Amino acid sequence: MKESNQHVLKKVSQPGAISEPLTIDVRGKVALVTGASRGIGRATALALAHQGAAVAVHYREKTAEAGAVVAEIERGGGRAVACQADIRRPENISMLVEQTVTAFGKIDILVNNAGIVRDNFMIFMKEEEWAEVLDVDLTAAFRLMKATARIMMRQRRGRIVNVSSAAALTGDLRRANYSAAKAGLLGLTRTAARELAGSGITVNAVAPGLIDTDMTLSLDDAARAKRLAPVPLARFGTAAEVAALIVFLASDAASYMTGQVVGVDGGLHM
Ligand code: NAD
Repeated sequence: MKESNQHVLKKVSQPGAISEPLTIDVRGKVALVTGASRGIGRATALALAHQGAAVAVHYREKTAEAGAVVAEIERGGGRAVACQADIRRPENISMLVEQTVTAFGKIDILVNNAGIVRDNFMIFMKEEEWAEVLDVDLTAAFRLMKATARIMMRQRRGRIVNVSSAAALTGDLRRANYSAAKAGLLGLTRTAARELAGSGITVNAVAPGLIDTDMTLSLDDAARAKRLAPVPLARFGTAAEVAALIVFLASDAASYMTGQVVGVDGGLHM
C-alpha cells in the first residue's frame, strides 16, 4: 500500500471521524424566506422551522395562507412570524428586514425565493413585462442581500440562498425576462460570495428545474409531457425536494460551499 493511502485510512479511522451522525441543523438560527405563503417558499419555511430555525414568513397578498404557515410552524413547537411586503418597492425591503429583526433579534439566513414569470416571445415582450420580472426576480434579491448582509457582517456569520432556475442555464422559450433575471442572480451570487466570504457569510444559489407549484399549474398535459421529455428522472420535482437542498445550504453542514449553483432538476441540466 502506498504511503499516501495509509495516511487517508488513518485519518478516517480517527475517533469521531465517521461515528458522529451528520446533522443538517439550523437550531437557534433566524431565517427570512421571501414568497413563503406557498410553493417552494412555503416548503422551505416549514423545513427550516422543522430543523430548528425561527422563520419570518414573507408574503405579498395571501395573508390567510401565510398565517397558516405560521400556525403550522407554531403547532410543531417552532417560532414564526408573517411579514407582508411587495418587494418591488425599495422602501419595503428595509421594513421587511426590520420586522424580522424586531421579531427575533437577528438574521442568520436569507432565502431569496419570491419570483414571477411574465411570458412572451422576446420580439413581442413589453417593457413592463421585462421590468416587472427583473424587479422581483433580481433587483429585490440584490436589495435584500445588501440589507441583510450588513446585519450578518456584524454577526460575522450568515447564509444566503438565492432561488434561481434551470432557465438561467438553458434559456427558456418565451422567457427572455425570466432567464435574464435568473442568470443575473447567478452573477450576483458569485460576486457576493467573494465579497462576503471574509465576514463568514456564504452565498449560494439553487437552480430548480420543473417543480410542481402554482407557477407550473397552468401547463396542460401536452405541455407537461413536452417539457418532461428531456428530464432523465421523468417527473416533476416537489417543493419539498427543493427545500431540502436550501436547508442544507443554509446549515453548518454546507460551511465549505460558497458561490455555487446547485441544480435540483431531475438531471435536466448536467
Ligand atoms: P409561486 O408562484 O408559488 O411562488 C412565488 C412567490 O413569490 C409567491 O409567494 C408570490 O407571492 C411571491 N412574489 C411574487 N411577486 C412578489 C412581489 N412583488 N413581492 C413579494 N412577493 C412576491 O412559485 P414557486 O414555483 O414556488 O416559485 C418560487 C421560486 O422558485 C421562484 O423564484 C421561481 O422563479 C423559482 N423556480 C420555480 C420553478 C418551478 O418549476 N416551479 C422552477 C425554477 C425556479
